[in-house]
Amino acid sequence: MSKILIIGAGGVGNVVVKKCAQHPDVFTDIHLASRTKSKCDQIAEEVKGLYGVKVSTYAVDADNVPELVQLINAVKPALVLNVALPYQDLTIMDACLEAGVNYMDTANYEPKDTAHFEYSWQWAYQDRFKEKGLMAVLGCGFDPGVTNIFCAYAQKHLYDSIETIDILDCNAGDHGHPFATNFNPEINIREVTQVVRHWKNGQWVETPAILDDKCIHFPFDYPEAGVKESYLLYHEEMESLVKHIKGLKQIRFWMTFSQNYITHLKVLENVGMTRIDEVEYNGVKIIPLQFLKALLPDPGTLGTNYTGKAVIGCIFDGEKDGKRFKKYIYNVCDHAECYREVQAQAVSYTTGVPAMIGAMMMLKGIWTGAGVYNVEQLDPDVFMDELNKCGLPWQVVDFNGELPV
Ligand code: NDP
Repeated sequence: MSKILIIGAGGVGNVVVKKCAQHPDVFTDIHLASRTKSKCDQIAEEVKGLYGVKVSTYAVDADNVPELVQLINAVKPALVLNVALPYQDLTIMDACLEAGVNYMDTANYEPKDTAHFEYSWQWAYQDRFKEKGLMAVLGCGFDPGVTNIFCAYAQKHLYDSIETIDILDCNAGDHGHPFATNFNPEINIREVTQVVRHWKNGQWVETPAILDDKCIHFPFDYPEAGVKESYLLYHEEMESLVKHIKGLKQIRFWMTFSQNYITHLKVLENVGMTRIDEVEYNGVKIIPLQFLKALLPDPGTLGTNYTGKAVIGCIFDGEKDGKRFKKYIYNVCDHAECYREVQAQAVSYTTGVPAMIGAMMMLKGIWTGAGVYNVEQLDPDVFMDELNKCGLPWQVVDFNGELPV
């Protein structure tokens, strides 16, 4: 019997709970907690109707460690899966340590008052998790998550040494709104407006943010989605991959943005709507980006009319048995199919499915250990098999195209 406590009932939480309910042999007892209990109840009701599985629901403020500890002690799960926001990572890790429970998340910690994310805060928990004999697995969504697993797979099976990795994330979908973000607007906009970094020859190289006219971008021909302009972006999985992929000389992350998205975001930034500091309006203190979030469509509701594909993968250049070659490992995910299955768009789906598979790896004892792990440090094989079985099939092909030097 494996009891899981999922924290966060947004777009990703909805997918995770439904995918867990599809595997009652592993997830025998599902508990869901979030700030707004009615959102948990709605998911639980849908799950009961779809799969006949009971989900227990709770309200919790995941910024509050004692409240979390009380909940974890009452539920006594084997694993806490955090799909709330990156702001809550440390409090949930603290609560897991205190209650003696394993931990997993999909995004690295970010303080509310600084648009900056990095693993150092969570890696600092290494000794505490080790001493307690507990396991914390970080970044088990798609990117980070599956992209790291693709790298672990390439390192284990395809190459003796990998020289360069290019991670390419394409959303070629159309949700029908003039402007919307595919996951939490606050987190998404903080991510894409920052200075860009990639790693080359042992150091981080800074380049202009995607809203700057001098930013770096190129057209890439994605499988099934076609040619899309792809922008160099900083993304968190690069930080752990440079540590764990042996001999790596360069790693870059590219994400597609439409001209429409860039134009909207430029205007919002220029008028101050993406600011994360407090401003006073009519005697009330507001944070413009949080106010903007309240105006934008809830990403969890975008799925209704979403069409098109999301294509995410990694291109490797390296050597095996003295031969140099490039391989591309990728997944294509269809927004409308995701909606039919779990009433979610592909970005929530591609995050929620790997989170469920990662939880399955831990609960089945396939991923074990004491300490804090990034997913590329764990064995990729069973996880890769489960991706094929659970709705995210992947391909490995030779890559003969061109990438910017
Ligand atoms: P949503 O905003 O849709 O959902 C977040 C959920 O967390 C909401 O239910 C929210 O509650 C809840 N929450 C927020 N603050 C608290 C709190 N203090 N206490 C308890 N619950 C809280 O986000 P998404 O579902 O789109 O994203 C979830 C996570 O997945 C994020 O961390 C995001 O960065 C990550 N992600 C990872 C990706 C990957 O590939 N690795 C890709 C996409 C997302 P309420 O409804 O009350 O606000």
